Amino acid sequence: FQPQMEVATGRAVTAEALVRWAHPERDLVMPGFFVPVAEESGVIVALGDWIMGRVCETAARWHRLGLHQRVAINISTRELGQGDFFLRLRHAMATHATPPATLELEISESLAMEMDERVLSQLRALRADGVSIAIDDFGTGYSNLSRLKDLPVDRVKIDRSLVRDITISAEARTICSAVVGLIQGLGLEVVVEGVESQEQMDMLRIVGCTLFQGYHLARPAPEEAYLRAYGASAQTRRHG
Ligand code: C2E
Ligand code: MG
Ligand code: MG
Repeated sequence: FQPQMEVATGRAVTAEALVRWAHPERDLVMPGFFVPVAEESGVIVALGDWIMGRVCETAARWHRLGLHQRVAINISTRELGQGDFFLRLRHAMATHATPPATLELEISESLAMEMDERVLSQLRALRADGVSIAIDDFGTGYSNLSRLKDLPVDRVKIDRSLVRDITISAEARTICSAVVGLIQGLGLEVVVEGVESQEQMDMLRIVGCTLFQGYHLARPAPEEAYLRAYGASAQTRRHG
C-alpha cells in the first residue's frame, strides 16, 4: 500500500494497493514484470480476483477499525474486458461487506478512452453506489478531452512523467500547470503521482495541487508497516 496524502491536513486519504509477488526463490517481483505476462496468458483474471478479494477485505476491515481511507485497486485492460468483471467485483464487495465508499478503481488513461457503453454503464452504476473512479497515468496516452468530461470519474492521477522535470524545465512547468488547470476546470480532483522531492511538491502546490503520492512522502509498504505509519492514531501526526 502507498498513501495518497492530502498535504494541507497531513492525512492519508487513499491507499493504493500495489501487487507484489513473493517469489520463493527470487526477491520480491514487481508488477511491471508479471502483470503484462499475466495479461498475455489470461492468468490476470485469477490474479485480479485474488487482488479484488484482498482489497475488498482490507477496505472493509479498515472501515471497521474506523480508518477513513479509501483503498484503490488497479484494473487492467484484460480484466475490464471480461464480461463478468463487474459481477465478480460486486461479489467480492458483498462477500466482505465492503462499503462502496471505501473503494476506488484506477483505470489507465488509454483504457478509459476505449471503454464501451457496456463498461461505462457499469462504472456509472458503481459510482452511483459510492465507489470512486480515478483515471491513472494521465498524460501518457492521448485523451479526447470532451470524452474525459463525460466519463464517470472523480479524480485524475497525473503521471510521474509530467512532473519529473518541473523543477528544471520551464516548459515542463507550463505543461504541468496547464494539465492541472484543465482537470480542475472539468470539476475533477487532481492527484499527482511520483512526487520525489519537496521542491516538486512546493511547485505543484502553487498551481493548486493538494493530493500527492510518491517516494518523497512514502514508498509502498506491506499492510502492517502502512498501518503503523498511516493508521488512525498515526495519521494526524505525519506531515501535519
Ligand atoms: P501505477 O498504478 O501507475 O502505480 C504507480 C507506480 O509508481 C507503482 O509501481 C509505485 O510503486 C511507483 N511509484 C510511486 N511513487 C513513486 C515515485 O515517487 N517515484 C517512482 N519512480 N515511482 C513511484 P509498481 O508498484 O511497480 O506498479 C507498477 C504498475 O503495475 C502500476 O502502475 C500498475 O499499472 C500495475 N499494477 C500494480 N499493482 C497492480 C494490481 O494489483 N493490478 C493490476 N492490474 N495492475 C497493477
Ligand atoms: Mg495506479
Ligand atoms: Mg499511475
